[in-house]
Amino acid sequence: MATKTKNCWKTAEKLTICAVLVIYLTGCSFAGISGSQSASSDAEKKVTKSDFALDTVVSVTLYGTDDPTLAEGCLDLCHKYELVFSRTDSESELYALNEQNSMTVSDDLLSVITTALHYCEVSNGAFDITLGEISDMYGFTSDSPSVPPQDKLDAALAHVGYQHIHVDGHTVTIDDPETVVDLGAIAKGYIADRLADYLKENGQQSAVIDLGGNVYCVGTKPDGSDYNVGIQYPFEDTSKTITTVHVSNMSVVTSGIYERSFEQDGVLYHHILNPQTGYPYDNGLLAVSIVSEKSVDGDALSTTCFALGLDGGLALINSLDGIYAVFVTDDYQLHYSDGFQAALEQ
Ligand code: AMP
Ligand code: MG
Repeated sequence: MATKTKNCWKTAEKLTICAVLVIYLTGCSFAGISGSQSASSDAEKKVTKSDFALDTVVSVTLYGTDDPTLAEGCLDLCHKYELVFSRTDSESELYALNEQNSMTVSDDLLSVITTALHYCEVSNGAFDITLGEISDMYGFTSDSPSVPPQDKLDAALAHVGYQHIHVDGHTVTIDDPETVVDLGAIAKGYIADRLADYLKENGQQSAVIDLGGNVYCVGTKPDGSDYNVGIQYPFEDTSKTITTVHVSNMSVVTSGIYERSFEQDGVLYHHILNPQTGYPYDNGLLAVSIVSEKSVDGDALSTTCFALGLDGGLALINSLDGIYAVFVTDDYQLHYSDGFQAALEQ
């Protein structure tokens, strides 16, 4: 079934999955619930709701029902969380933190900042949530992105460093007023987890949440089997996949250089930046996909592993239980973490 990259999407009545993933539900036999006519038709029901939120197209598909209420509830939650995590919306909590530099924050913002700082430390700063000003200077999402002049990059780099962020209880302090916190590498994962909780708490057993490439598969397919999630072939149409994983109750997140990028003087500039230089990482990777129970970890780790490169990223994933990664290098070869194929490709 369908998919798209972060900046474009498909609105067919087929399952719409934005970004880098393809969910296949074809061939679903509904074997486990084929008793009565009504049970069978319930199992075949589904409803999808999509919206633009979180700077991307988000979509929620519920299976086994045609009542859109919970899917709409998910979209409402996306807008609620936008008012927590958006770096650019002047109404958001993160915006206020960046303005005020010290304030008492909500549980949600505290949780994401604390988790993000963990990955900043684990990666020795290759993952760094203070690249906000430099990302802005490139204008990746603008109509005319461009490479910032070196003097401006240097000036902004002087204020990059997650060590400027301090957490004391619910008080977060940024000790350099020029430092801009950006949670773009992790917030969607946290939100996907919250949406999955909301659906499960409300009795929805089978659903796919797609927040522009952060996919969470709730439960199993209606017949009790795993979802098949295809991972996009870099730079190709989203219907072309490079591999497929079989998951239930898991998140699949990809960071890729083709997602937000532009070309200048024959060079591709993408959105995952090296905090040492201010330039995009140029390490032979095209994409990293992470499969994990918590999407907040998957989101943080997809960016972290991209930043660490193939060897460092694989070493990190292989040190973690229950988290899997596949790396795509620029020769289009796949590099799997330990146990990936046994756990996810069988
Ligand atoms: P993702 O698509 O999850 O890999 O996140 C990429 C986004 O994270 C970018 O668009 C920036 O907002 C932000 N970002 C860029 N470089 C880094 C980095 N080295 N560490 C953490 N966040 C980053
Ligand atoms: Mg990420």
